Amino acid sequence: MRITQIKVPFPSEYGRGRGTNAYLLEGEIKVLVDSGFDSEENRKFIRKALEKTGAWDLDVIVLTHGHLDHFSLGVYLQRETGASLMVHKDDSEMLTDYSTYYSKWFEEICGYAVEGGFDPGILEEARIKLITAASILSRYAPHEEFTEISLAGGSVRTMHLPGHTDGSVGVVTGDAVFAGDAMIEGSTVVRDLKKEFNSLEKLKVFKRVYPGHDRSPLSRAEVETLEAHFVSRLDKVLSVSRGGARLKDVVTSLYGEMMLDHAPYRLILPINQAIAYLKYLETEGHVEKRGGMWYSFVESISSPVG
Ligand SMILES: [Zn+2]
Ligand SMILES: [Zn+2]
Repeated sequence: MRITQIKVPFPSEYGRGRGTNAYLLEGEIKVLVDSGFDSEENRKFIRKALEKTGAWDLDVIVLTHGHLDHFSLGVYLQRETGASLMVHKDDSEMLTDYSTYYSKWFEEICGYAVEGGFDPGILEEARIKLITAASILSRYAPHEEFTEISLAGGSVRTMHLPGHTDGSVGVVTGDAVFAGDAMIEGSTVVRDLKKEFNSLEKLKVFKRVYPGHDRSPLSRAEVETLEAHFVSRLDKVLSVSRGGARLKDVVTSLYGEMMLDHAPYRLILPINQAIAYLKYLETEGHVEKRGGMWYSFVESISSPVG
């Protein structure tokens, strides 16, 4: 299987410098894992990249998950090449109606955030900015949903890796896995940390883990470093909520006072992350929520998995 990494830049409004890692797998069939953000420049960019390797006649685009920075350019590719665009059924609603999915997520975050001490005016500012951006980019993306895929006699298959999103998958070929945002060097945004820990465990058997952003490929050691990062974050949350803490206290202890001065919309991911840590600790019986306060019962978690 020939593997080509295509680093598709983010349009400037989503943060220059970063980009989405798409991967072209060429064997019996031509598979593109993820695509990138849709923009005029990126359409030209990906067309050129695929034509260069003679792979414009793609067979299938497999999405590691339903986030815009992974699927939206794929809609263009599907239309132009005729390849099918495939997403796990649990992320299918994002390709059907991204705005609604995004609004629901935002409402949930805001519920916790307002109760947890954040200024409703600032959250409203963030909501307007983010929902507007999502609705500009979102449109119905014709797609096929799956629970598991096996292509070319099983030489390319998927593995469910929920945590970052419910429908996150890895695309497996040989001893390599294309893990999307289930694994990014350093840290990754999670909706469900318990599922994420299980998914990281599954990634450890692979020699090479190709992430959805930044440096690639990664090894088992980096997967273990990410686990350790989450564990140290959880310990920090436990220590700050020893005598009771609001969500805002947890967010500032994790990310610093400084970040509260940032543009409102940049608060949302740190808030999402802090909620994921607290919910994980709550299901493990290590913290309890009473009104807008979280209280921890233990100093540290010894083993997060199990
Ligand atoms: Zn993502
Ligand atoms: Zn991503």
